[in-house]
Amino acid sequence: MIALSACGLSNEPTLELADEQAALSGNLPSPGAPGIGDVLYPNLGNGGYEVEHYQLDLRYATAAPSQAIDGSVTIRARATQALSRFDLDFSGDSVGAVTVDGCAAAYSWDGEELVITPAHALRRGDRFAVTVSHFASSPGAPDPTDFLGAPFFFTPDGTAWAGQPHNAHRIFPSNDHPRNKATFAFEIDVPAGTTAVANGELVAQHTTGGRTIWQYEQREPMATELAQVAVGALTVTSPGQHRGVVLRDVTPTRLTAALSPKLAVQPSQLDWLHERLGDYPFRTYGSLVMDASLGFALETQTLSLYDTLIFGLPESILNPIMLHELAHQWFGDSVAPTQWSDVWQNEGHATWYELTYTADPDSIQFEQLMQLVYSLGDIWRTFLGPVAAPLSGDPNDLFNINVYYGGALALYALRQQVGDAAFQNIERTWVARYRGRSASTADFIALASQVSGQDVSAFLQAWLYGTTTPAMPGHPDWIVDPVDAQLSFAGRSSPAQVPLKGLRPMLRH
Ligand SMILES: [Zn+2]
Repeated sequence: MIALSACGLSNEPTLELADEQAALSGNLPSPGAPGIGDVLYPNLGNGGYEVEHYQLDLRYATAAPSQAIDGSVTIRARATQALSRFDLDFSGDSVGAVTVDGCAAAYSWDGEELVITPAHALRRGDRFAVTVSHFASSPGAPDPTDFLGAPFFFTPDGTAWAGQPHNAHRIFPSNDHPRNKATFAFEIDVPAGTTAVANGELVAQHTTGGRTIWQYEQREPMATELAQVAVGALTVTSPGQHRGVVLRDVTPTRLTAALSPKLAVQPSQLDWLHERLGDYPFRTYGSLVMDASLGFALETQTLSLYDTLIFGLPESILNPIMLHELAHQWFGDSVAPTQWSDVWQNEGHATWYELTYTADPDSIQFEQLMQLVYSLGDIWRTFLGPVAAPLSGDPNDLFNINVYYGGALALYALRQQVGDAAFQNIERTWVARYRGRSASTADFIALASQVSGQDVSAFLQAWLYGTTTPAMPGHPDWIVDPVDAQLSFAGRSSPAQVPLKGLRPMLRH
């Protein structure tokens, strides 16, 4: 009864009736915006609050791979405005009930927006907890011909997640945007004998009554798109620590013996990136290989996701891809973009390290590659958009080759302009200053000028936002191919459709 009285209409005045001061200061409760303000995804994320922590409790009733999960999420958040109601993003199968601070809350479910009206309005600055209990979501079959595939997919023995860029809320209710990073705790309840893994560290595991509960904590802030929960007939291999990083790889048990030798390269890759970027930003790292053909790799935080297609490639191709996913732990994961159009920050940097891992940036081989990419600059900018301005939020547009290779070329241009020492200093300062946070292209441009001691703002604006390709410092002889008006692939950047001049068609990674 006490609880009901606390949750129902009490004597406490609601903020709707509250003082003139609130009205004058703009603190009267109003609905939170249905989007966080992303240019490419107007409804992604939400306004009016910031999530600080997700507690995700997920129950897998059986070991059947294609089963739906029965989930409950408690989100601790802070109101950034006085809120009469607010939204979560969710487009799973169903919702059981919603509470705010333990009191039943009214909700409606409109498309991908779960609109929640708490019993009492929230004041600006209030910390509150919203729980969505017994939500359900179902996995789909992986499809390597679909650019994104199913964000929650099943394999012959289990399931895993791949929410990038805008699909984590198809799995669980969230503020689904990398501008709002939060810590995570996972409690995964599976039949005994099934392995469950998630981002971060295993903190407890116990079996009773034929069920095993696995608890993980991701203590450094994480974007929702990078959340990973995989269950199945999986083997966790723990080769120990390297530079203080706890190593952990997860493989399908039937493939563990074959895959393990290919994973042994990772400690040397940690060394290679540590030398260039400083400390690895998390406590754990490793790879999760799922028994599926996904057609992509994904930098889920602390536990990069791969499929068996990629692990079937020769090491000359596989190892640079693994280096790319590891580089993402700094670029994209630790330092997240504030807008999805900033995704070059993730992909351009990860591609830069992938390419320079294979060839020294001062080598002829590397210069020739950059010259080739340079020659395609105007065509790519015309048909795919400038590096930091992809044409649309369609993932085919967002993850286009100009974001990857064009982004790496912009970094090459910056290095040519400021010199290698200043360039390395920019990179290290970027990942240190914005560690665990979100940052924008404008932040990168400002930092590059500050650290190099040169005003490179107009220079980087042209490289990142220009519709034509700027001159390359140090290479006045480099020529840009003319844009052929007959080309007709505008709008969708399927690698098969854009001129590549011998570059390998891009795998999303
Ligand atoms: Zn990538």
